[in-house]
Amino acid sequence: MKVIVAEKCGFCHGVRNAISIAEKILVYKEGRENDVYSLGPIIHNKDMVERLAESGLKTVNKVEEIQSGTVLIRSHGAAPEQIAKLKEKGVNIVDATCVLVKRVQHIAEELARDGYKVVIIGDQNHPEVRAVVGCARDAIVIADESDLHKLPENAKLGIVCQTTQSREYFSRMLGAIARGSFSELKVINTLCEEAIKRQESAVQLCKQVGIMFVLGSLESANTRKLAELCKKYNSETFHLQNWNELDKNMLFGKNVAGVTAGASTPEWIIDEFVENLEAFDTGSR
Ligand code: SF4
Repeated sequence: MKVIVAEKCGFCHGVRNAISIAEKILVYKEGRENDVYSLGPIIHNKDMVERLAESGLKTVNKVEEIQSGTVLIRSHGAAPEQIAKLKEKGVNIVDATCVLVKRVQHIAEELARDGYKVVIIGDQNHPEVRAVVGCARDAIVIADESDLHKLPENAKLGIVCQTTQSREYFSRMLGAIARGSFSELKVINTLCEEAIKRQESAVQLCKQVGIMFVLGSLESANTRKLAELCKKYNSETFHLQNWNELDKNMLFGKNVAGVTAGASTPEWIIDEFVENLEAFDTGSR
């Protein structure tokens, strides 16, 4: 089968940096009595989390589960309150927060300091958004139009967006907010260009192929966004975590497949998927 891989896909620099920092800490730890923790899964990819766990990285979900050792702050970041608790415990903190996520956190802090009601457009359950909320007291998260009632009337609103959302979504939500009542609107574009480039190249590719595969964890926000966008332009779009999840029956009758992957999808998963797909004979059942 002919397979075309999106020009931009797979690990972004933020994820690559977090993994490389984790690997360096784990090499340094070898033979020492020092536990290394990740506060939340280092990336939204089970295979990678398991691989690093084999080398000694312990994933915990709460600060309370850590008593000593080294703690890695993942690319999604952590709330200042969590960092303060870790400092109180005297653990060694290694910050691998993506610079673009750090930027949103700083912007949210500044907006709050300047008297704006901070509004974050995105998913309130996503760790990046939770950390940004922690940076700006009483920040409001708007996921869709049904959340608009949370906005106070005639307020000074300072708006940022979850980094991995799409331009389409950000502008749609901005339009909805602007139709409400406010005294001032200050909007800072905090979208990640790497995520946008992945979205654009995925959309371009999905329009040219018979079937489109988006690889990555079902928990990964940026992968879900890629799948959602591709589905809009190619109904034969499938979000899978790896080759084992593929129902081969869906390949029959298709000549060209497109493949893209989220920013947290390791290269080996993409390579394995593409190699198997290329070797697949769509003519014989
Ligand atoms: S997708 Fe963008 S914001 Fe998120 S970790 Fe990667 S580079 Fe950073």
